[in-house]
Amino acid sequence: MAEVLLANQADIQRRILRERLRLVYEQTPRSIPLTLVVVTVMAILGSRAVPLWAVGIWWMGMAGLAVLRYAAVRGFRRASGNDETQLYWTRISFYIVLAAGVGWGLGSVLLAYEATIEYQLLLLMILAGIAGGALPFLSVHLPSFVGFILAITVPNVTWLLWQGGRIEVISGVLLALYMAALLYNAHRVSTLMSETLNLRFQNEAMAQTLLHEKDELQALNRELERLSHIDGLTQLANRRYFDVRFQEQWQRGMREHASVAVLMLDIDEFKKYNDAYGHTAGDTCLRRVANAINVTLMRPSDLAARYGGEEFVVLLANTSIDGAINVAEEILRRVRDLNIKHETSSVTSMVTISIGVSAVVPDRDIPRAYLIEAADLALYKSKHAGRNCITHQSIDEQSYPRLLGTDDA
Ligand code: GH3
Ligand code: MG
Ligand code: MG
Repeated sequence: MAEVLLANQADIQRRILRERLRLVYEQTPRSIPLTLVVVTVMAILGSRAVPLWAVGIWWMGMAGLAVLRYAAVRGFRRASGNDETQLYWTRISFYIVLAAGVGWGLGSVLLAYEATIEYQLLLLMILAGIAGGALPFLSVHLPSFVGFILAITVPNVTWLLWQGGRIEVISGVLLALYMAALLYNAHRVSTLMSETLNLRFQNEAMAQTLLHEKDELQALNRELERLSHIDGLTQLANRRYFDVRFQEQWQRGMREHASVAVLMLDIDEFKKYNDAYGHTAGDTCLRRVANAINVTLMRPSDLAARYGGEEFVVLLANTSIDGAINVAEEILRRVRDLNIKHETSSVTSMVTISIGVSAVVPDRDIPRAYLIEAADLALYKSKHAGRNCITHQSIDEQSYPRLLGTDDA
């Protein structure tokens, strides 16, 4: 987890820069109309003492800058956001802001030149307002704000101190102090914003990681669950899973009055097979027989499972005894068709299986174990009949005692 967060730190820094840049451009359009109003008011007031052409040039310069800023905003919105263009748009914004600062700084000195002290003080108040108003917009990108403030402050304070009068000097010092306080506040706002954005992106990254891990965990759980249902050797269902599905189908059969069938299957003389060909060949044989059983089953509700060593069980929902016998015959045929040599078998020279079949419509009075018992009994009869064959066993009242093992007959 810690590694993931560390790896994301560089990415988070990049995202913080991107977000700051976005905020700079997003806020710019809102400040443009106000800028134009203030520039116009200042120009009108200043035109009393300063030649009209000089004021006109200043006004046009400032208005042109506002247009440029707006064009930059539109350009930024259209541009793609990769790292290189990000640097480019940061520079563009910085230079435009700096130019605006120079415009205000030099413009105010120009307008104050030869003006009354009252008008000079009014100008200073307007400048202070502009600088204060720019703080929330520009503290998003601290270098821009520093450049803007210095460009305004340096010419004005220099001009005030150079005039040397008492009020001028006091005003100059106050202006410098006020601007310094603004810079300090902008620094604090900027730091706070970094921390906030950092937290936000860290949280997002963490949520992303958690989501990812949750997905992986779920996939792992599904795989574990699947594995817990499966017999490792044959890849058929295991007996535990068969028990679960058998119980489900039994209940369903009871509700729907539908017959449930079970096939018990056992490889004939498999002990001899192992003895003749070895355990590994025995395992391969088991897998092939398992596959032959499995491919015979067509319905989604059919299930083949490994019941014990070389014994298999097949569950057929909604299937009568006749249907089950058909499936058993098909399995018997498919196993024969595998043509696995078994020279020591007393049945044929090929691997064969014996099958016991039983089916019943589940009823509250019949324990479901009876169905298994009946199929097992039928399998036993198949073995006695010479193997490589199918026997079926019904569950009727006569067979209950035999199934329960209370009758030795
Ligand atoms: P029958 O025709 O009466 O079924 O005779 P059988 O030899 O098949 O019956 P028995 O139950 O005496 O022997 C079953 C043999 O199956 C014993 C054991 O060696 C073998 N077996 C059980 N599980 C495995 C297995 O996972 N791999 C291998 N290779 N053999 C197994
Ligand atoms: Mg056997
Ligand atoms: Mg057996």
